[in-house]
Amino acid sequence: MTASFIRSDDFAAFVTALIEAGPVYGPVAKRSRFAFERLETPEELRLDYDVTILPPKKLFFPPAQDLVTFDGAGFRAALEPTEKVLLGVHFYDVKAIDQTDLLFSERNYDINYMAHRETTTIVASNIQTVSKRAFFASVGADVEPQGHDAFLTAINGGYVLETRTERGEALLAFGAFQPATEAQIAEAAAVNVAALERCPEELEHGTEAIADKVRAAFQDEELWTTLAADCFSCGTCNTVCPTCYCFDVQDTWNVDQTSGQRTRFWDGCLTEDFAKCSLGEGACENFREERAARFRHRLMRKATYLNEKLGGPACVGCGRCSAGCTADIADPARVINQIMAS
Ligand code: SF4
Ligand code: SF4
Repeated sequence: MTASFIRSDDFAAFVTALIEAGPVYGPVAKRSRFAFERLETPEELRLDYDVTILPPKKLFFPPAQDLVTFDGAGFRAALEPTEKVLLGVHFYDVKAIDQTDLLFSERNYDINYMAHRETTTIVASNIQTVSKRAFFASVGADVEPQGHDAFLTAINGGYVLETRTERGEALLAFGAFQPATEAQIAEAAAVNVAALERCPEELEHGTEAIADKVRAAFQDEELWTTLAADCFSCGTCNTVCPTCYCFDVQDTWNVDQTSGQRTRFWDGCLTEDFAKCSLGEGACENFREERAARFRHRLMRKATYLNEKLGGPACVGCGRCSAGCTADIADPARVINQIMAS
């Protein structure tokens, strides 16, 4: 597609025009942290954010999502997707969206995710501030982000917008863009390479070696018991992860006892009840009752189990789990480096 340039002085007018055309979501400040929210004004947009509290998947797969409503007459889909722009997604979160796109479409086409996804124009943006626990440069380094429609990079005097799709190309009509020069394109490329060199953490081995050694450690009960010793089973590491996609489905009845809704909620494999199954007649079985087994399962999912299907690890190195874990034991880089060194 094309590469265009917009001056810093014209950027707010571009974002304003997008907001006037339809919903635009982007990173906004929440005290000292950031969250993807619907933008009301261009001033709210904080492209200098480090990492958001929750990943952008919440726009396609909300923490609580009604699937159907029902009453005495039947069922109705609750789905109402709207065209929107998601502005300012870092490349590691685009890689995570690529993974959920595949997982929600390959066998059972999940219309409740895909309808939101297909009505969203994604504009990636360069990483201006690197978060304190990120290791995105060393995890799945050979996996390219695919799901964005355009990539915005801040350079001296303005922004380079490189489009990948027709949706991305359509954005040019909203701002005072002009063709980018070779020098501006080269500057944007250098800016993005420089961000990779500022990661505070890194994996010390490649994807295949990690997958082999982590899988070989499966039977080491002492290792997993030690790693999970301080785990509160709170599920935060699952909740904040852009590549976690498990959910639980519950029916809620209204007071008339005739109508209600079926809703899915984010679930997480670190929580105590995640693997609890009914055996009927009030009996149940929890097939990952021990914290160590749950902790191991998460690491196996991130580093090994899904690699073949996804073409790389099911972790993009955002560091959200590391920063969010009260016990500071969830960091995949630290855990994997420890296993690799053993
Ligand atoms: S590893 Fe940390 S964030 Fe994850 S469930 Fe345990 S205590 Fe919570
Ligand atoms: S496992 Fe942690 S670092 Fe990896 S993608 Fe999930 S939240 Fe980010």
